[in-house]
Amino acid sequence: MSTPGCTGIADGLTRVREQIAAACARSGRAPEDVRLIAACKTFGDDAVRSAIACGQLAFGENYVQEAKAKWPALKADHPGTELHLIGPLQSNKAREAVALFDVIHSLDRPSLAKALSRQCDAQERRPAMFVQVNTGAEPQKSGVLPQEADAFIASCRDVHGLNITGLMCIPPAGEPSEPHFGHLAKIAARNGLTGLSMGMSGDYGAAIEHGATCVRVGSAIFGNRTYPAPPSDGPRPVTAPAQ
Ligand SMILES: *Cc1c(COP(=O)(O)O)cnc(C)c1O
Repeated sequence: MSTPGCTGIADGLTRVREQIAAACARSGRAPEDVRLIAACKTFGDDAVRSAIACGQLAFGENYVQEAKAKWPALKADHPGTELHLIGPLQSNKAREAVALFDVIHSLDRPSLAKALSRQCDAQERRPAMFVQVNTGAEPQKSGVLPQEADAFIASCRDVHGLNITGLMCIPPAGEPSEPHFGHLAKIAARNGLTGLSMGMSGDYGAAIEHGATCVRVGSAIFGNRTYPAPPSDGPRPVTAPAQ
C-alpha cells in the first residue's frame, strides 16, 4: 500500500475543506451539513493516521478484506473514527460488513438486503445504510435501476427493517454528473430520504450544490492510487472510478 507524505495529506484535506465550504456558500448550505468521507482504499494506515491527525474522522473503504486488515487497530487507537463501506458488497460478506462498518453505502439488491437484515438482528447492530442507485443504468455498474428504486427502498424498510438513511450514486464516467445528482436527489425526496451520498474528487462541489450530505473524496486528499492486484474478497469492482 502506498504511503503518501503527511504534508501532502494535510494540504489535500485543507484544499478539499475549502472547496466544500465554497460550494456550501454558493448554494446557501451550512458546511456542517456536508460530511467529508475520506476514501482511503489502497492507502496504508500511515496515510489514514496522518488524516486523523488533521482532524478527519470519517473514512470510506471499498473492500471488506482491506478494511478488516486496517481498521481494528485504527479503531482501537481512535474510537471516534467512523467507517463507511463505499464499494460493492457480496452477500457472503454481510456478517463482516455489519460487524466492521458504521455506514454501508452500497445496498443494491434484495438478496443483500436480506443478508444484512439477518446480520443486524444477529449482531444487534444497526449500521446506517444508503441504497445505491445506478442512475446511468450502466449494465456493468452496481445499484438498483431508478425505476426500481421506490419499491426496493420500501422493501428494505418495511420487509427487512433496515436503517435506510439515504441514496448513493456513482455517475457514469465521461458524462456531466449534474443530471445524475439531480435525479438521485429527486428519488430521495419522493421517498422521504434526506441523505445523499454523491460526489467524488472530480465533482464534489457540484454534488454539494445538488444537495449531497456525504461526499466521498479519495485522490484529492491522498493523491493518485496505484491499484494493487484484486483483493481476496473478489474482483476489483468496475465501479471503481478510473480518473
Ligand atoms: C474510490 C471511490 C471514491 C473516491 O474517488 P476519488 O475520485 O479518488 O475521489 C468515491 N466513491 C467510491 C464508490 C469509490 O470507489
